[in-house]
Amino acid sequence: AERPYIVGNWKMNGTRAMLSEARAIDRAAQRYMKVEVALAPPFTLLHAVHREAEQIGVGAQDCHAEPDGAHTGDVSATMVADSGAKFVVLGHSERRGDHGESDALIASKVSAALEAGLRIILCCGESEATRDAGKAEDFVLDQLRAGLPKLEDASERITVAYEPIWAIGTGRTAEAADIAAMHHAIHGLLVETYGEEQAAGVRILYGGSVKPDNAREILSLSHVGGALVGGASLSAESFLGIVVAA
Ligand code: 13P
Repeated sequence: AERPYIVGNWKMNGTRAMLSEARAIDRAAQRYMKVEVALAPPFTLLHAVHREAEQIGVGAQDCHAEPDGAHTGDVSATMVADSGAKFVVLGHSERRGDHGESDALIASKVSAALEAGLRIILCCGESEATRDAGKAEDFVLDQLRAGLPKLEDASERITVAYEPIWAIGTGRTAEAADIAAMHHAIHGLLVETYGEEQAAGVRILYGGSVKPDNAREILSLSHVGGALVGGASLSAESFLGIVVAA
């Protein structure tokens, strides 16, 4: 299989005191070169984590759709790239929920990020009600149809993260069979959109309560190309436990 991609999303956590964790993660990643490791710290730490990072990738958790202008409190993709970050997470369910981000807005952020030379991790995932109604797959594929850009080199630029909302921060991971089925469906959409060859290189991460003790099973599923890790990425010890399991 291709190189697994393990990304830590620090969400709204982390002050400069956390730079020592980033450094520890980076130094350990140098010994696990078969795994691609990255962190998405808050904007305030992007440049500092970038400066610590010799091996790991660094990315932001959001960007604005415009390159600059009168948007108080916002940060553009150009600014993210200028900080040294190489990717941006877009469409996270917490952005969709906390800030009412629509599929259309997310698509415009995707364009802005690509324009700024960033790679993207495009997130999707259904609520528990949608899953219970048997509509999880349609819902997720619709989110992705709206957000995936037209690109020739998708495998270089795009990662998808499937994060069922009810599994985020709850300690409840999705069933292995459900993860495998969703990743299979997402891969099918990627093949339709980009063709077999490009789709083969677009990694599909799973996110939602990934921990050192469940990572190996999840990461062994077909079409699971890595993990997007929230809570367990906040300490080097637990995050590296996941890296080692990959
Ligand atoms: P947890 O790992 O804390 O469940 O968060 C998952 C997530 O939302 C990563 O983006």
